[in-house]
Amino acid sequence: MSFQLVNALKNTGSVKDPEISPEGPRTTTPLSPEVAKHNEELVEKHAAALYDASAQEILEWTAEHAPGAIAVTLSMENTVLAELAARHLPEADFLFLDTGYHFKETLEVARQVDERYSQKLVTALPILKRTEQDSIYGLNLYHSNPAACCRMRKVEPLAASLSPYAGWITGLRRADGPTRAQAPALSLDATGRLKISPIITWSLEETNEFIADNNLIDHPLTHQGYPSIGCETCTLPVAEGQDPRAGRWAGNAKTECGLHS
Ligand code: SF4
Repeated sequence: MSFQLVNALKNTGSVKDPEISPEGPRTTTPLSPEVAKHNEELVEKHAAALYDASAQEILEWTAEHAPGAIAVTLSMENTVLAELAARHLPEADFLFLDTGYHFKETLEVARQVDERYSQKLVTALPILKRTEQDSIYGLNLYHSNPAACCRMRKVEPLAASLSPYAGWITGLRRADGPTRAQAPALSLDATGRLKISPIITWSLEETNEFIADNNLIDHPLTHQGYPSIGCETCTLPVAEGQDPRAGRWAGNAKTECGLHS
């Protein structure tokens, strides 16, 4: 459905305004004031020292200081965080956002992760199935309004899933592109939870080396021109030497899904 047609239908009331999300759990429960204050103090005291720390140091710090349960978010593009968490944060849960638009290879990696590691794998799902989203907001919202699609299928499901946790681990790397070049290793998210990025200093090459050296579950598309993998509908292969994220929402001004902004 074209953008113009979606707008025309919106005006006649046939398609719901994509700025209005469906009813359902979409936000994170606030932390207790004590934990929120504790997290704030941790970041104030330790963020600078952890800025360039190794993955091991960051995860050991997390095991020692985090004031509660931790979720390890896995995009399944690679399984480095799963391996590192199994070594250093064995009590943490794994959290996978199943948008409904993933490559079948990504879902297969998720299945293998669940099989290989003992940690609980929590799968966060959007409120609407793809067919429901199509009929309520118009066909292919990822094309007509990718920001709204990411909000409903990634940002809000993640927010709803983070309530039980005091913090979450991300796979952010500064080398992934200009939007991430200054990203901290330790910060607070909008709800006051700890946001911890243990491989923040790693390059793509270092990541691939770690995968090979440790015989990790490998996403096959990373060997077929996809250094950064999101939903199938919004990810294209990139040329050698190109910005690894250049294939994400290619042809659209969008460069981030909103999980890290
Ligand atoms: S990456 Fe594309 S399909 Fe996936 S949630 Fe975002 S807009 Fe929708």
